[in-house]
This record gives sequence, C-alpha cells and structure tokens, in this order.
Amino acid sequence: MAERIDCAVIGAGVVGLAIARRLAQAGREVVILEAEDAFGTHTSARNSEVIHGGIYYPTGSLKAKLCVIGKKVLYRYCAEKNVNHKRIGKVIVATDETQLDGLKKYQRQGEVNGVDDLKSLNRDELAALEPAVLGVAGVLSPSTGIIDSHGLMLAYLGDAEDRGASLALKSPVESGRITGDGIELSVGGDESMAIVCNTVVNSAGLHAQALARRIAGIPPETIPPTYYAIGHYYTLTGATPFRHLIYPVAGRNWLGVHVTLDLGGRCKFGPDFGWIDSIDYTFNTSREAAFYEAIRRYYPGLQDGQLQPGYTGIRPKIHGPGTEAPDFMIHGPQDHGVKGLVNLYGIESPGLTSSLAIADYVYDLLD
Ligand SMILES: Cc1cc2nc3c(=O)[nH]c(=O)nc-3n(C[C@H](O)[C@H](O)[C@H](O)COP(=O)(O)OP(=O)(O)OC[C@H]3O[C@@H](n4cnc5c(N)ncnc54)[C@H](O)[C@@H]3O)c2cc1C
Repeated sequence: MAERIDCAVIGAGVVGLAIARRLAQAGREVVILEAEDAFGTHTSARNSEVIHGGIYYPTGSLKAKLCVIGKKVLYRYCAEKNVNHKRIGKVIVATDETQLDGLKKYQRQGEVNGVDDLKSLNRDELAALEPAVLGVAGVLSPSTGIIDSHGLMLAYLGDAEDRGASLALKSPVESGRITGDGIELSVGGDESMAIVCNTVVNSAGLHAQALARRIAGIPPETIPPTYYAIGHYYTLTGATPFRHLIYPVAGRNWLGVHVTLDLGGRCKFGPDFGWIDSIDYTFNTSREAAFYEAIRRYYPGLQDGQLQPGYTGIRPKIHGPGTEAPDFMIHGPQDHGVKGLVNLYGIESPGLTSSLAIADYVYDLLD
C-alpha cells in the first residue's frame, strides 16, 4: 500500500526549500524528497551568491518580476533571520566607447524592470569608486548584494521544519504516475517506497525535465528539452583590489566573466560559459588564458599566476546553442492539465535571488 501525504517537494536546493517553507507556512503537510545525503549540494552550492538587482531580464518576464520582488523580500528576510549578506553594490563597466550603447541599454532595461536606484558613472566617478578598474563609464547598482547561500537554505529549512515539514535525504524520486486519486511517486534509496500525494512540486533543478518524463501522465509536449552550460570560477590570490562587484558589458545569455566578492572579502572571477553534454563538474583548466584575457580588459593590473582554479557550476538550461535564454518555465495545472502538480524548469540565474518570490508564485499556481 502506498503511503498518503499531502505535499511532496522534490529537490532540496534553494528553490525547493523556499517552496517547502511557503507550503508549510500555509498549513500544508510537506515532505521534501532529496536524492543526495545533504541539502543544497548542486546548483545552489555552485553559483556566484549574488543578490541580483534585476537589471538584465526582458520586460515583463518572470525573471525580471521575480528577481526585483525577490530581492526586496530576500533582504528583509536576511535581516530578520540573521542570514549573512551584504548590500555591497555592483558596477557595470564599459571598457571603451563601443560599449556605451550596451551600458545605456542595461540602464534603460533595469529602469523598465523597476530597478529604480541605478546611477550613471562617468570616467572620473568610476575611477574614484574603483581605482583598479579600467573603463570609460559605468553604472552603479547599489541594491546588488552578496549572500551566504548555505545559511539561506538552512534558514528556509528551519522555517519549514518549524511548521512540521520534514526533509528526507537519500530519497531519489525515480518515477511516478498521475492517478485519479493523486500523484503517485516511487522513491528509491535505502527505504524505497511508494507515496501518493495531493500536491507535487518538481524542483529537481538539472534533473527536472528527466524526472517529469518519468512521471506518466504529464503531457510530454509540455516538457522542454534539456541542455547544460558549465561555468568556471577562478579565485584571485592576494588582497582584492575591488570594493564592489564588477561586471563587464556582455551578451544577453550570460553576464560575462565578472568579479564577485564573498562575505569573507575574497575575490573570484567567473563564471564563464560553455555548453556541455552531461552533468560533470570537472574543472577544465584550459580556460585559464581566456580568463586572463577577459579580466584584463577591465582589470589590467592582474598579474600572471594570480588566478587559481576555484569551482564550477552548471546552468539548468531549456534552450540550446545559438538561441537566447528563455524565461523561467514554471508549469502549473493550467499548463499541463494535472491537478496539484508544479514543474519548475530552467531555474538558472537569478533563481537564488528570486527564491522567495518563486515560492509565492508556485503557491499561487496551486491555490
Ligand atoms: C554558475 C551559476 C551561477 C549562478 N549565480 C547566481 C547568482 O549569483 N545569483 C542568483 O540569484 N542565482 C544564481 N544562479 C542560479 C541559482 O544558483 C539557481 O537558480 C538555484 O540554485 C536553483 O536552485 P534549485 O533548488 O532549483 O536547484 P538545485 O540547487 O540544483 O537543487 C535541485 C535539487 O534536486 C535534487 N534532485 C534532483 N533530482 C532528484 C530526484 N529525482 N529526486 C530527489 N531529488 C532530486 C538535487 O539533488 C538537488 O539537491 C547561478 C547558477 C549557476 C549555474
């Protein structure tokens, strides 16, 4: 006999945990099913830990809306719960005149998205703010910040558990089927079991599409294709010369090799962007020369030997090479016709920043 539960959230990354918290706080019985032996070991542990302002995303997109709202509620949440974070600010830099249009475009898009605190910087203002940075102009985003993503996940989990939710580790959901009586899931691991749920949220990150395909009854045409794009980070040895996060003017699919400072004041550069065929976090050191070249365009003081391999992260993509990054794809019953089910696909950046807002959005889809 399958056990019956109210809600299963599949995946204990930052987004799954935020959703579990939201559902538990609304009085629902929640079990979080996580394949690994700890929460937050995949994309939520392998990112830039930046609280994004919400500048780049297309007008009206979920990315734009959920990032701008998510940032505000996240700052409030971090202050209330003592999650380590810092509103450090970010500077986008145009390194020559050809990038001035791009810089203006970012600023306009940010303003359309409701980022109302952007400030233009001329060459002198940029130099005063960031003496080590080479550039002809910049835009300052004061509301961009950095955050301890592990501390954030711990806080979400604590809130969820306080309202009765439980986290089942080493509990990979292997398959499922939609029945007239709910959604049945087969859970593997040491104590494999079948459960029937009123509500299922598939927040399995890099595995979300593969899992959805293994749940009989989800219309296959609603499941997007799966692609992966790796990003490498290099760390800077020695003292950091930057006071803010520094971003170049880049393309639309990716923010360019940028400077991130962590809460301990250490500086890292990345991520770069490369399509890969499978989930493999191996660090490819052949990228080093490209990193030196990209960084020296805005930080000419970088010395040979100062970059050390750091870590990699993999973007959960729903589009392939040569196409523009689409919006977050969050499918509720009206999209796939299955009562009580939400599938989250392509939750790449700014998913961390947006996590609380995504949780509200998912809750509303199920309501
Ligand atoms: C390189 C990089 C940099 C980024 N930088 C930023 C940033 O600075 N700011 C920002 O806002 N966002 C950033 N992001 C995006 C952000 O990290 C993600 O949006 C967010 O972490 C996604 O969280 P998640 O919970 O959806 O996925 P994940 O953290 O991947 O969690 C999914 C979980 O599901 C589990 N799982 C998978 N399959 C199953 C199964 N069958 N059964 C049970 N469990 C399963 C996995 O083990 C995993 O724990 C970045 C992303 C990348 C790749």
